Amino acid sequence: MPAGVVTASYIVASILFILSLGGLSHQESARRGNVYGIIGMAIAIIATISSDRVSGLGLIIAMMAIGATVGFIVAARVQMTAMPQLVAMLHSFVGLAAVLVGFANYVDPGVQYEGAEETIHEVEIYLGVFIGAITFTGSVIAFGKLQAVIKSAPLILPARHWLNLAGLLVCVWLGAEFLDAESTGGGLIPLIIMTLIAFAFGVHMVMAIGGADMPVVISMLNSYSGWAAAATGFMLSNDLLIVTGALVGSSGAILSYIMCRAMNRRFLAVIMGGFGTEGGTAAAAAGDTGEVTAVSAEETAELLQGAKEVIIVPGYGMAVAHAQHAVSELTQKLRSAGVKVRYGIHPVAGRMPGHMNVLLAEAKVPYDIVLEMDEINEDFPNTDVAMVIGANDIVNPSAQEDPNSPIAGMPVLEVWKAGTAIVLKRSMATGYAGVDNPLFYRENTRMLFGDAKDSIEAVVKALD
Ligand code: NDP
Repeated sequence: MPAGVVTASYIVASILFILSLGGLSHQESARRGNVYGIIGMAIAIIATISSDRVSGLGLIIAMMAIGATVGFIVAARVQMTAMPQLVAMLHSFVGLAAVLVGFANYVDPGVQYEGAEETIHEVEIYLGVFIGAITFTGSVIAFGKLQAVIKSAPLILPARHWLNLAGLLVCVWLGAEFLDAESTGGGLIPLIIMTLIAFAFGVHMVMAIGGADMPVVISMLNSYSGWAAAATGFMLSNDLLIVTGALVGSSGAILSYIMCRAMNRRFLAVIMGGFGTEGGTAAAAAGDTGEVTAVSAEETAELLQGAKEVIIVPGYGMAVAHAQHAVSELTQKLRSAGVKVRYGIHPVAGRMPGHMNVLLAEAKVPYDIVLEMDEINEDFPNTDVAMVIGANDIVNPSAQEDPNSPIAGMPVLEVWKAGTAIVLKRSMATGYAGVDNPLFYRENTRMLFGDAKDSIEAVVKALD
């Protein structure tokens, strides 16, 4: 394919990627956004492998076939609840690719660079390998934590910030040595040592971050993987890779910022680590004792039937129970009985951004009754029943009321302000952040214990 056609294809692919990101920002257009992304990527791959600069097409196609098959099987099998782990694993591939391309490009640059061009090229390689190495090991550790292979509690080494600083300074010094190396390939030793330090840095950085901050870490690693890809684009003089990397890098950074705001965490504090404990432990905090009022499915149905306005707040438990279809059926029933039903979605409900929206869309819940936390939070005092389905941290009043709570300051859905709050969960266990929830002991709270899907199905039956 002539260079001009490749460039034109890259421009088309870049535009499609931008349209894809735009589409993904709204539920109504998300499907279309995905299609744009798929077409853009197909154009990008075809243009790249058929460009004059690429040889060994047979091997490339064979490797792509293997990669695509593995990717297809993994994506088809993955549970919705295990999506963050999969995303973390995929980020690690981008990081590793940046490292490998960096080394390959240094050892065999293909083009002979001179003077300033050579220096710029080497800086690109050094930065690309550095970011790629951190992304690689950081993502592997994030995968391990989310998969519960590694404990989610933060690992706090003594003087850890000094360790990081020392590592960074050594990397800067090695960078100078790398650029000073006389012959091509002569800087290999500093490059290898820096890579090892960056690997260790990635491990240390994510090990120090607790489970509750993992969502931010995933989107931060998403951002890093974008910058690693952009650096690879500079190394290979591939404009499309630079544009795509920059899009991923900046959108990941924006998402990290939005999530930090949703959890009331400062981005720097997240990176510094040390926050968050084990998830899913039994309630044990002092001062959390009190009576809980359990209700049956029939009583819940009565409460719902008597309500004019209901807000449903779904959380991680709805995903675990696969209850979205039952919840959708309940919604239809109540709406046809004249009850105004809406949904309140917390930005970090579930285990990944948009988790609840995806599930509700799959169950065909109308988009116009699914509202963001900021859009609906003020309406709880005028709501008769708030129905919390498998959510915990995102409806925890201690975030507002207890300055010593580990989640103090995190914005939460104020379900306790509704006439009655009905909480569906299996036990008194805590949520992801491992913090007890005083909501369960409130006078106007009713607990409907059991698997969320079974409970909702029983409520629907009782409504008949
Ligand atoms: P939580 O993890 O706080 O609570 C989920 C609750 O669901 C648990 O208390 C559990 O209680 C209940 N549950 C689990 N399985 C079932 C079931 N089968 N039926 C009924 N209930 C069930 O979830 P939230 O959505 O409230 O909060 C999300 C948390 O996850 C936040 O801390 C957030 O920071 C974190 N996080 C968010 C990510 C994101 O991007 N959205 C990614 C990673 C983490 P029980 O065991 O008693 O049933």
